[in-house]
Amino acid sequence: MKAHGFLLAAGGALWFAVSARAVSTGEPFYGDAPDEHHPWAVHDWNRPQPPRVEPGTASTPEQPGRPPGDAVVLFDGTAAALTNWVADRPAGAPTKWIAKDGALICVPKSGYISSKAHFGDCQLHVEWAAPTPPHGESQGRGNSGVFLMGLVEVQVLDDYDNPTYADGFAASVYGVMPPLANALLPPGQWQTYDIVFRRPVYRNGQVLDPGYVTVCLNGVLVQDHTPLEGPTGHMARSRPGPLPDAGPLKLQDHGNPVRYRNIWYRPLPPNAVEGGTDGYLTAAATLAKRHAIAAALRADAAKLRDLANPRPEMLRLMESLGYEKDAATLQQVEQMAAAYVAGLRQLPAGQLAAKKDEVKHVHAAFKFLARFHDLPDNFAPAAELKKIVDEQGWEKKR
Ligand code: MG
Repeated sequence: MKAHGFLLAAGGALWFAVSARAVSTGEPFYGDAPDEHHPWAVHDWNRPQPPRVEPGTASTPEQPGRPPGDAVVLFDGTAAALTNWVADRPAGAPTKWIAKDGALICVPKSGYISSKAHFGDCQLHVEWAAPTPPHGESQGRGNSGVFLMGLVEVQVLDDYDNPTYADGFAASVYGVMPPLANALLPPGQWQTYDIVFRRPVYRNGQVLDPGYVTVCLNGVLVQDHTPLEGPTGHMARSRPGPLPDAGPLKLQDHGNPVRYRNIWYRPLPPNAVEGGTDGYLTAAATLAKRHAIAAALRADAAKLRDLANPRPEMLRLMESLGYEKDAATLQQVEQMAAAYVAGLRQLPAGQLAAKKDEVKHVHAAFKFLARFHDLPDNFAPAAELKKIVDEQGWEKKR
């Protein structure tokens, strides 16, 4: 048995906690300890398991794929899905775009449409098809647009055989960054955008993270973690700055009957600069997280309390010291460890021999904590236990 973190999925929100069926095996006494920028140890079994997401399926020309299990679907091909969208003119009115043959079709001059759902950081999947036969040139051919948070346009344009200015190409961040490649299919065929979007993060007027957009067009990387430069404009250079926390997805009416299908997104958890607790954290964030982990482990240890067998509780409390050197916990561990070692000393030789693995395990835990200075140098029970291990010849000689 191993001491796993576990996760509960409730109402779409994910909550992590340290395992209630706590079984301490000392498994966490293993890789490098938490440090000032990493609240978790290396290979830390207390770290929550990644949440399970049922993967979707790929689209074919005939059939849209199935979204991942946790995706929020904005258009699934049905007329009913039109109610996920509203018109921009007049704002909030039912959209005049139509659903036909599984596609959401722009009705020229009806205006942009906005998703009722507002969101920020996301993985976004959109498929679109330009009108065929093609009409118009440059920006006039199959023009629409995917506006992230209604503000930043990833261009939709039929550039299969249609030169235009590079920063207005299909899959450009419009006016800012051309795509790395033209990976378009001919007009009429379904094109796929897979987008990863991170908002800019500002605090007290200072940029902590400029925000980024990454785009794959038909499976080809065309925007590589491109820094954001503010809301999209036309002709005027856009300027970096804060954006709202959330906004609608907008699809552009540029006067061409572009079709869309299979539109879904997955909200992304906050990254480290916004309070996420994975990754390289600030010293303050690391300290806060280490405190939370230690507190959870101490609570977990209390559930393991068993006077007949205090070792699991002791080990769990020892684990907590790796995250936070809490004085009361250290004192508690010292008392428990002293009693543990005294108990070993009273065992007949045969019974002590039977505890070889257990004792070596506790010894290894002491050594781990000492190595990372989570125990005082003069921690008497560790020295006493080492004597027993040495007397028994249980430590491998190097
Ligand atoms: Mg456009």
